[in-house]
Amino acid sequence: MAQQMGNQPLIVLSEDSQRTSGKDAQSMNITAGKAVAESVRTTLGPKGMDKMLVSDSGDVVITNDGATILGEMDIEHPAAQMIVEVAQTQEDEVGDGTTTAVVISGELLGMAEDLLDQDIHATILAQGYRQAAEKAKDVLEEMAIEVEADDDEILESIAATAMTGKGAENAKDTLAELVVRAVQAVADEDGVDTDNVQIETVVGGSIEESELVEGVIVDKERVHENMPYVVEDAEVALLDTAIEVPETELDTEVNVSDPDQLQQFLDQEEKQLKEYVEAIADAGADVVFCQNGIDDMAQHYLAQEGILAVRRAKKSDMKALSRATGARIISNIDDITGDDLGFAGSVAQKDIAGDQRIFVEDVDDAKAVTLILRGGTEHVTDEVERAIEDSLGVVSVTLEDGAVLPGGGAPETRLALALRDFADSVGGREQLAVEAFADAIDVVPRTLAENAGHDPIDSLVDLRSKHDGGETDTGLDAYSGDVVDMVEDGVVEPLRVKTQAVESATEAAVMILRIDDVIAAGDLKGGGTDDDDDEGGAPGGPGGGMGGMGGGMGGMGGMGGAM
Ligand code: ADP
Ligand code: MG
Repeated sequence: MAQQMGNQPLIVLSEDSQRTSGKDAQSMNITAGKAVAESVRTTLGPKGMDKMLVSDSGDVVITNDGATILGEMDIEHPAAQMIVEVAQTQEDEVGDGTTTAVVISGELLGMAEDLLDQDIHATILAQGYRQAAEKAKDVLEEMAIEVEADDDEILESIAATAMTGKGAENAKDTLAELVVRAVQAVADEDGVDTDNVQIETVVGGSIEESELVEGVIVDKERVHENMPYVVEDAEVALLDTAIEVPETELDTEVNVSDPDQLQQFLDQEEKQLKEYVEAIADAGADVVFCQNGIDDMAQHYLAQEGILAVRRAKKSDMKALSRATGARIISNIDDITGDDLGFAGSVAQKDIAGDQRIFVEDVDDAKAVTLILRGGTEHVTDEVERAIEDSLGVVSVTLEDGAVLPGGGAPETRLALALRDFADSVGGREQLAVEAFADAIDVVPRTLAENAGHDPIDSLVDLRSKHDGGETDTGLDAYSGDVVDMVEDGVVEPLRVKTQAVESATEAAVMILRIDDVIAAGDLKGGGTDDDDDEGGAPGGPGGGMGGMGGGMGGMGGMGGAM
């Protein structure tokens, strides 16, 4: 970049860096952000389409989940990346509403583009958008309905709404009930940690046969065939060490000169192993989970004691077992006492779809539960698992906040109307920004209608007139196309899904709008082929900038072919 200073050109940036400024920078970023939003728009809502994502290595993912789609796409443009981050924030904070957040963000950028063309300054836009977002939060909170932690019916509606359109459709009711039970089981005064709900997918059987085990399932078998399959009222020991004789520090050779000496050496080892098993048995354990190996001889002794033992359990399983049974994980077998043991009403080896697993159930405090998810094929179980994860997220958030909103575009319709009213009180040029925000929010009901094959204009008109008449729970039933009370229809979502979506969508849009200068060291990554011709041409010209973007979006274009 060269600037004239006196007669001398002053070089402030290296030759191969690229600079795009002012309107060009803005429009380049807006285009990139909008493109990302557009790529997930058709998946919004229960009747949204799925995307097939094919990775470089040929792995195929079929999904309707916004966060998953954006996560799998190779998006390089920095402004586009900011929109992807909206999805990630939404996923982390609430676990659902990612597509909504991204679509709103894209629409905010689109509306801004028109206003920028009318010479409304980006700063004014940013202020207006922020004001509108603040107001939106208040309106949503006013609209929210309170929910108690034991209101199973509404919790199940929440769980089911998050699952609609994600391949879990047919078994929605069964799964929603399991999800609610799972979250209620792991909830405590600190809230809900969904990591305590393990999901085990089993290919084989139907989704309807999925079940919730209030306890832990360990994907292992007992180590010895003479061990029991089932232990009732089990005292459980957890060891993060091996039941083996420790190897000598250095690889010393043991020189034995006669057979007696060898026997003595082996006897010594056997004696040590026997002592370990005795210590475990004396402490009162009926079941042992060992994070490391168990010597063959020790297995034999354990079986003799009637103990069910499992070796090489995963560390995460050990933690879950500890939480569920109350057992302490111990490292020194010699020191084990009854106090270290935990309790489970039942420990049993069972067969799931030809796979042997150990079920640890009837635990005192099932702070860890396992959802066994069945499905016909891996693509099915994978997509159902993603649906379940969203569903777990929304039920948890609802338990934590105790506030829900009607779905199906009801809150967005209400917001758009309220914001148009609010705009009048704002005045000045910001008023235009607030109005643009209101128009942008309408993208949600409009898209829900479009994706469900209904006329978006008719739906919006219907929705507005109902809301104007005070029926603010009215939304669009994507299945029937009717405009009805969403709470009665069982389409409800946590308040936080919407507040977070509006907040992060606004933040990203504002951040992108406020950029009026893009200075890239070297080429913007992934520059397209025609971009190469520009090399040495006018950096900072729209051609260079857009070329970089074209390349950045190229990764998506590749994806697009598979969509
Ligand atoms: P997101 O990633 O934003 O959660 P989804 O594809 O899950 O995207 O769609 C969520 C939207 O679908 C929400 O606005 C929700 O209210 C709406 N929705 C869910 N079920 C229905 C339904 N039966 N009828 C109409 N809208 C629905
Ligand atoms: Mg969703």
